[in-house]
Amino acid sequence: MDAYGAPVIGEHGKWLGIVIVMHEVTELVKLEQVRKDFVANVSHELKTPVTSIKGFSETLLYGAYKNEETLLSFLEIIHKESNRLQMLINDLLDLSKVEQVGYEVDLQKVNLLDVVARSKEMTSHIVEEKNMRLEIISEEPVFVLGDLNRLIQITMNLLMNALTYSPEDKTVTITISQTKKCGVIRIQDEGIGIAKEEINRVFERFYRVDRARSRNSGGTGLGLAIVKHLVEAHHGLLEVDSEVGKGTVFTVSIPLVKR
Ligand code: ADP
Repeated sequence: MDAYGAPVIGEHGKWLGIVIVMHEVTELVKLEQVRKDFVANVSHELKTPVTSIKGFSETLLYGAYKNEETLLSFLEIIHKESNRLQMLINDLLDLSKVEQVGYEVDLQKVNLLDVVARSKEMTSHIVEEKNMRLEIISEEPVFVLGDLNRLIQITMNLLMNALTYSPEDKTVTITISQTKKCGVIRIQDEGIGIAKEEINRVFERFYRVDRARSRNSGGTGLGLAIVKHLVEAHHGLLEVDSEVGKGTVFTVSIPLVKR
C-alpha cells in the first residue's frame, strides 16, 4: 500500500485538516506479475515447436533429405510440431476472445443429449484406440439456454481430458441430469486423478500437473481455462472433484430454458 499525506490550509492560514491518498498497489503488482508470467509462458510454448521445426528442416536442407528413412521421420516431426503450433495459436486466439470483458455467447434452446451425442461421435476413434468404454447415462431430454457449438466445445475438452489422463481399458461415464434450475453434464473417469493441492490450479492458463504427459498427448494447457470462461459466459457452474489414482469428475451446470 502506498500512502501520501498533505495538510489542507484554508484562508488566513487556517488549518483545515489533512488529505491522505492511499494506493492499493498489491493487486496491481499481482496483476502485472500474472501478465508477465503469461507472456513468458506463451513465448516458451511457441519457441519449443518453432525451434524443432527450424532444426529438423535445416538438417534436411543440408543433405539429410538424401536418406529416405531420415527424410520421412523428420517430415513427420515437422508435421507434428506444426500441428502443435496451430493448436496453440487457435487456443490462444480463442482464450483471448472468451476472456474479453463483455464476451457473450449466442444463447438458444439446446438439448444436452445432442451435445453429448456429438462429443461422443467426435471422440469415438480415441475411445477405440485406447480400448476404453464411453458410457452415457441419460433418461430424458434436458433443454438448457446455451450456445450449441460452445457447449460441444466444453464437453469435448472435458471428455478429451478424461480419455487422455486415463490408462487404457478404463471407462468414462457421462451422466446427463437436471436440477430445479440447471441442466447438468457430469464427466467421470477412472484415470490418474489430481492431487488436492493442484485441483484449483488446473483452471489457470498453461498450468499442467504433468507437463510432459500433457505435451505428449497434444495438450496446450489452455483447455480448462477456456472451458471455465465459456461456462461463466453461460452463467453456469464448473466443479471438479478428484482422487489421485482413482479418478476425476468434472460437473458442468447450465441454466435450464424457462418454460
Ligand atoms: P492440457 O492441454 O494440458 O490437458 P487443460 O487445461 O485441459 O490442459 O488441463 C490442465 C491440466 O489439468 C492437465 O495438464 C492435467 O494435468 C490436468 N487434468 C485435466 N483434466 C484431467 C483429468 N480428467 N484427470 C487428471 N488430470 C486432469
